[in-house]
Amino acid sequence: MKQFWFVVGSQDLYGQEVLDTVAARAKEMAEQLSKKLPYPLVYKVTGEKADQITKVIKEANYDDDVLGIVTWCHTFSPSKMWLNGFELLQKPYCHLATQYNLSIPNEEIDMDFMNLNQAAHGDREHGFIGARLRLKRKVIAGYWKDEKVVEKLARWMRVCVGVDLSRNMKVMRFNDNMRDVAVTEGDKIEAQKVLGWQVNSWAVGDLVKEMDKVTEKEVNDLYDEYLSLYDVNTDDTEAIKYQAREEIAIRKMMDRNGCKAFTNTFQDLYGMDQLPGLASQHLMSLGYGFGAEGDWKVSAMTAVIKKMGENENGASAFMEDYTYNLEDGKKYSLGAHMLEVCPSVAADKPRIETHHLGIGMNKKDPARLVFEGKPGKAVVVSLIDMGGRFRMIVQDIEAVKPILEMPNLPVARVMWKAMPDLETGLECWIMAGGAHHSVLSYDVDAEMMRDFARIMDIEFVHIDKNSTPEALEEKLLVNDLVWKLK
Ligand code: MN
Repeated sequence: MKQFWFVVGSQDLYGQEVLDTVAARAKEMAEQLSKKLPYPLVYKVTGEKADQITKVIKEANYDDDVLGIVTWCHTFSPSKMWLNGFELLQKPYCHLATQYNLSIPNEEIDMDFMNLNQAAHGDREHGFIGARLRLKRKVIAGYWKDEKVVEKLARWMRVCVGVDLSRNMKVMRFNDNMRDVAVTEGDKIEAQKVLGWQVNSWAVGDLVKEMDKVTEKEVNDLYDEYLSLYDVNTDDTEAIKYQAREEIAIRKMMDRNGCKAFTNTFQDLYGMDQLPGLASQHLMSLGYGFGAEGDWKVSAMTAVIKKMGENENGASAFMEDYTYNLEDGKKYSLGAHMLEVCPSVAADKPRIETHHLGIGMNKKDPARLVFEGKPGKAVVVSLIDMGGRFRMIVQDIEAVKPILEMPNLPVARVMWKAMPDLETGLECWIMAGGAHHSVLSYDVDAEMMRDFARIMDIEFVHIDKNSTPEALEEKLLVNDLVWKLK
């Protein structure tokens, strides 16, 4: 079972009784916290010597179920004992700076109480060794029963689940990127080294062969599933069944090869009648990542961010900025794609429609899901290759109910207000080099993506309500210098 380990620091100066008390309390805290966290926090050890810490960190490194370690110092804990272990640490790490007791007890407090309850002292010593070693740390401070503290820890755990998927990510590409497009390109060796992604291509012909092997029963079963999930607003049953055939074949090939994300391009549909639309959309709703036009970076990120969401498959979708409403007081971005937006972000039940798609090699009108995105706070995330490093750009947005019905728009659409406002946000996004493709997520926030970027050691740029192009320009300049030195 996927889990996190709780490693507590102490020392032998105050005797066995104190060590026993620390261990008992740490166990109690881990058990209580586990009831509120999305993954178990398992108490492992109260460390007082370097070899204990080194041993537990080595075990965490080699156990695939351990997604991260959480440390805390109940008493003072001389931190040289953490040094050797931390130098070996390969798992995400969070320093929880907390305290067993909520209040200082007026009558009870004496020197024994002070010796036992000096996390304020111990966590600072512990923090220094983290800083001195330049560890990639998440620091969370506050009372361990405080809801905000628990929520922060829960969100960090979700990030670690995304990290785990990222480090095991395989992307299946059908053909290459769309010809001549720059931002969807990238260094696949660097992506594997830094993010863990194995990105490889398969022939469209292999997919067509796989489609030919799909049985009528398989197609009909998935067709029935579509009908149970979505409304149908087309008479073209064959087009829907064709998408089912595509989905089954793509999924079989991905599962057989351990892939959690895929890409295709409308420029290569040899042997196929329709660009996968409904097929890609339903696969995304199952947690698979997708990127159109060969965009493997956004495809893998879609899968990773979906995994960080509620129940490991949240409201996150492959997205593309299309067009703006620039009227004063009504400044909105309209995002969509020519077919493939994940229905996890839909406000209402999506409907299956078929429409002509002029672009690409479609012989028949592809079936796709059409819906409006739901309102709510969200982010858009873009990952670009700067040459020598990856930059992640995250912008805060507020999704709204689309202000127009757009009855002739034949695709799913999401409308949002960019932070700090459309023009400033756009100036920042363009200055940072953010792509037209992004992952739009209602589940993750900028703090989670910052945590992800820190763990993966990639550049992070956040566009929020306080952003200005001037400040961003300075930041990008400094970042360039920093990353050249790394
Ligand atoms: Mn596109």
